[in-house]
Amino acid sequence: MAQQESCELCGRGPIETTEHHLVPRQYGGAEGPTAELCKACHKQIHALFTNAELAGFYNTIERLRDHPDMEKYIKWVKKQDPHKKITIKKANRKK
Ligand SMILES: [Zn+2]
Ligand SMILES: [Zn+2]
Repeated sequence: MAQQESCELCGRGPIETTEHHLVPRQYGGAEGPTAELCKACHKQIHALFTNAELAGFYNTIERLRDHPDMEKYIKWVKKQDPHKKITIKKANRKK
């Protein structure tokens, strides 16, 4: 069931959130801490970072927020209607 909470990254809420493993499961994070993120933020993180980057450095909300592209994204997304579906462009970086 979808939950209605506040997103830990952009702070919007109540909004439907999904669980993000701060250390991706394939890097042993299955039992590790998770964050409740809105779908837009969750997509944005996985579009911007590889699982290796997430496991190696971007494994806290603070570090994710400090990335310049995330800062820009958060400023933008806060102005978006939480009920509107947001399309996240897949970043064109090689994995
Ligand atoms: Zn969010
Ligand atoms: Zn995730």
